[in-house]
Amino acid sequence: MCYKVVERYSVCKCIYFQHSIDPCTAYGQRGHSIQEKTVLVGYVCSRHSSRASNAGHGPDSGYASNKGSYR
Ligand SMILES: [Zn+2]
Ligand SMILES: [Zn+2]
Repeated sequence: MCYKVVERYSVCKCIYFQHSIDPCTAYGQRGHSIQEKTVLVGYVCSRHSSRASNAGHGPDSGYASNKGSYR
């Protein structure tokens, strides 16, 4: 059985990072499935952590220009 590690936020369950598949000898055969291994990281993604302050409406326009200096 192949494994694919998927890192998800523990609260909102959004995907944080998807690793490449770690293939076994049966990889690619008919009926062979890939087992997803979920690793929980953090709490919520940036999209959901800002939801409370901006309920129901999309991301405010003009904020995107700040993105470059955020990191
Ligand atoms: Zn496999
Ligand atoms: Zn999320």
